[in-house]
Amino acid sequence: MRIAEVALDNPLPSHFDYLIPPGLQLSEADIGRRVRVSVRSREQWGILVGLTDASALTPEQLKPILAVDRSLPPLPHAVLALASFAADYYHHPFGASLLAVLPPSLKRPGTLRPSQPAAYALTAAGRELASRLPARATAQRRLAELLLQGPVPAAQLAELRTTLRDWLRRGLAAAAPPPLAPTPPPEPPPVLNAAQAEAVDRILAQAGHYTAWLLFGVTGSGKTEVYLRLIERMLSEGRQTLVLVPEIHLTPQLTERFRRRFPAARLVSLHSGLADGARTANWLACLEGRADIVLGTRLAVFAPLERLGLIVVDEEHDPSYKQMEGLRYHARDVAVWRARAANVPVVLGSATPALESWHNAQAGRYQRLSLPERAGGAALPQIRLIDTRADRPRQGLSSALVAALTANLERGEQSLVFINRRGYAPTLFCNACGHVVHCPRCAAHLVLHRERTGFRLQCHHCGLTRRPPETCPECGALDLRASGHGTQRLEETLAQQFPRARILRVDRDTVMRRGHFEAVRDAVHEGEVDILVGTQILAKGHDFPRLTLVGVVGADAALLSADYRAGERLFAQLMQVAGRAGRAEHSGQVLVQTAFPAHPLYQALIRHDYAAYAARALRERREAGFPPYQRQAMLRAEASSDQAAQAFLEAARTEALALASGVTVFDPAPALLARVAHKARWQLLVQSRSRARLQGFLTHWVARLRALPARAVNWVVDVDPIEF
Ligand code: ADP
Ligand code: ZN
Repeated sequence: MRIAEVALDNPLPSHFDYLIPPGLQLSEADIGRRVRVSVRSREQWGILVGLTDASALTPEQLKPILAVDRSLPPLPHAVLALASFAADYYHHPFGASLLAVLPPSLKRPGTLRPSQPAAYALTAAGRELASRLPARATAQRRLAELLLQGPVPAAQLAELRTTLRDWLRRGLAAAAPPPLAPTPPPEPPPVLNAAQAEAVDRILAQAGHYTAWLLFGVTGSGKTEVYLRLIERMLSEGRQTLVLVPEIHLTPQLTERFRRRFPAARLVSLHSGLADGARTANWLACLEGRADIVLGTRLAVFAPLERLGLIVVDEEHDPSYKQMEGLRYHARDVAVWRARAANVPVVLGSATPALESWHNAQAGRYQRLSLPERAGGAALPQIRLIDTRADRPRQGLSSALVAALTANLERGEQSLVFINRRGYAPTLFCNACGHVVHCPRCAAHLVLHRERTGFRLQCHHCGLTRRPPETCPECGALDLRASGHGTQRLEETLAQQFPRARILRVDRDTVMRRGHFEAVRDAVHEGEVDILVGTQILAKGHDFPRLTLVGVVGADAALLSADYRAGERLFAQLMQVAGRAGRAEHSGQVLVQTAFPAHPLYQALIRHDYAAYAARALRERREAGFPPYQRQAMLRAEASSDQAAQAFLEAARTEALALASGVTVFDPAPALLARVAHKARWQLLVQSRSRARLQGFLTHWVARLRALPARAVNWVVDVDPIEF
């Protein structure tokens, strides 16, 4: 066996053959290792995926393997299989899918000498120690642990010790009480209520096998407590748990909670917000078997774990589990597939499951477990609809909402005003001729933002920014006005209405800086904020015990959207943001401003009745022939002209019609956002009632698409698309 099959990060569908030079020993046990090869005279890292004697190329055509990285264990077979599954299912090249499993630094040529992982880990732990002194005891323990375990060569040890001592000194200088305080004893867990106990018992009874559990429970119903009990069992059995969360900002909060419960467990986080070194170190902790619990965002679903015993997908309905570029996977679906392959349970938690998941539970593919009440006795918030046709908002706020905010301020309780729009105002329009200022490069309005230096227009799609014009570009009139509300304008209005209130805005523009979100959370917890204004960033999972009022502004926009999933997303968001109100001992209320109070979505919302909402939405989906009753794939094409994109899709359609049986092929159509950065965007939808049939079709179709002339057209197939 002198030929190595190597997966490389490039757009070709298969792996590549390389010669194993004399003197280099490679065996089956090396499959999954990084190997260094040359591609068009450039060196890069690939992954060894097979050994063989035969190649379609002649020995003269084959280039040799240049090096093998034996400093790291090979990728587990389960991960190779997972990447291969994802590549097949999402019709993405295998090599690119597999290499996507590695953290970025392990793909760059020339990185990582064998001694570096431990150094990376130390840097990461040290940074944590330096930046978060209250957590110093944990950080120190982890440092010590790393020093004991990491493959640190003697020469480097001295240097690392000095660094460590330096961090400790800084820690000592900044902290008053002795920094080496013993770790606090683990928090005693609460007594489970009946529903929680049943969920835990049923899952544990089948813990050695694959079952997909849908854990359905409102915010605060104790889902996380259920996860913790399951993890406890995994820890006692020496097995690993993978916990996925939708949002980077949620990881610190959950990490803390897990640490308090399991101070001795090795907890590792994996997400794209980590610095390069920390991400590499954490990933290596997984690969080298030094992680007991892995907490991460969607990319963590590919974490190399040999002793995996359980997967948890929290807020499983969240759209951010879908990767929108490269390998366009859905982490929840990959998690379910991984659990099945590993024969371990997967727990999908949500207060508002994805309609797909709800449907799967009804069909018996998932087992449903319900937590119908809030744990710890807190009542569900009362949700009221404010009819904006009767109580017309002034500057975005109805008088009912203003009154509720006033009362809450007087009681010294915290409020949250939710609006899912960042910036100052969504549009700038001419009051004389009605012209709306557009992005010159995209089929979209420019959004007005207020900056320190004044107003600016911003495109939320291509990033263009410019000064607002003084006169209407269309008719020259001097009467340009901001229309509608974003977070900034609402913040301004609230500041005028409540001059003494401490108001804090939280949206993507404010939380871009690392660490900012933690600061917000602390400020809210310390009672330094009276009114929070923010987007859905605030809606997800954050526990603000003193928050008792939530006002929702501008929700109706989603009801008018052309995207058939907009309603589902709105319902989930509103349930989630409502869940922020009145946890712990304070009861809460939620006021939703709407011009359509009779809408069934809002009617289900005020009764906290997800099941009723889902039943109705699924009926509509069935009648309209949408997922989950149909399986879809979207061929997306981008080109500099509409004609080019459309022509490519027409050709693709012809190919599809020649192949299709049991697959519906629609007509090419412009995307909802038809132009971004001067690129025309078109799409072609195909669907089938049968997943297997759609998959079979896609395999042939994608092969034919690769053969089509597609000069100057970028295309991609998106399986199970969630955006249009
Ligand atoms: P979820 O994940 O569904 O939002 P959590 O597990 O975070 O719910 O629980 C919400 C709150 O209730 C937490 O403060 C948690 O400590 C508490 N809690 C959970 N289960 C119980 C229980 N059985 N008894 C008392 N308090 C509980
Ligand atoms: Zn633009």
